[in-house]
Amino acid sequence: MNNSNRKTKDIRLKKSLGQNFLQDQNIINKIIAVANVNNQEHVIEIGPGAGALTEFLIQDAGRLTCIEIDQRLITNLNNLYGDQEKFKLINEDFLNIQNEDLNFEDRVNNKVVANLPYYITTPIITKILLRMENISEIYVMVQKEVAQRITSEHGNKAYNSLSVFCQTLCETKYEFTVSKESFKPVPKVDSAIISLKRRSDVKIDIYKYEKFVQNCFKQKRKTLVNNLQTAYKLDKETIIKFLNDNDLQANVRAEQISIDKFAQIYNNFLLIIK
Ligand code: SAM
Repeated sequence: MNNSNRKTKDIRLKKSLGQNFLQDQNIINKIIAVANVNNQEHVIEIGPGAGALTEFLIQDAGRLTCIEIDQRLITNLNNLYGDQEKFKLINEDFLNIQNEDLNFEDRVNNKVVANLPYYITTPIITKILLRMENISEIYVMVQKEVAQRITSEHGNKAYNSLSVFCQTLCETKYEFTVSKESFKPVPKVDSAIISLKRRSDVKIDIYKYEKFVQNCFKQKRKTLVNNLQTAYKLDKETIIKFLNDNDLQANVRAEQISIDKFAQIYNNFLLIIK
């Protein structure tokens, strides 16, 4: 199929649903190559839209589950792929999807591949990482700025709580940049493809950890001591001693702390807030 067959000409695309559809076949090919889906895998596509990626994912995957919120796109997708047994289409907001809806059969072979609606990128990624443990790999298009946040290292301007949260749970990679001209309608900003591969050795309570990391970055201009003091109602001396015991200076800021160090101080911090 070529781009002209994927037209949604009768449908007025909604900006509010992040409907910027991929038009560039080169980029579609590159995403499919990076995701490297095989027939032992169950792929979950969030927001198939007019099917730019769906067309190729269905060829490669063992199973393909698509979740599309916009009812107006459903008939077209069903017409294109509804007769294939391995295809399942759910007309729902992804944020309302439960694990049971996805019928996971295997712990490892579940992969998300998607060009995400930008207005809910972070809630979608956070939901997958926190609540959908069976999904082991994620290949998604996000705004370039968000891609930089998720993949950047400590000391970089883009490094924040989302970077720490994602990189603690996954190996992340900035795969490639995608120009805004590759979409229709053309959005305001460029995008990028990133990948997140779940680590198997994470042994922390990830809900509490996410909260802790958010607290550490709460006010970016403040030191870690100030942010922890506000969040956990501890006295300053206790926190400074805690930081020194963990080889950190009293004036350290969250953005200076590496992923490994974060995990270490989190575990030790639990001991003092008990
Ligand atoms: N995959 C298509 C492509 O690459 O051309 C469309 C991508 S477009 C950036 C995002 C898609 O996500 C749209 O089809 C939109 O209707 C859908 N969408 C928006 N919010 C959603 C949500 N909460 N749950 C599921 N799909 C959503």
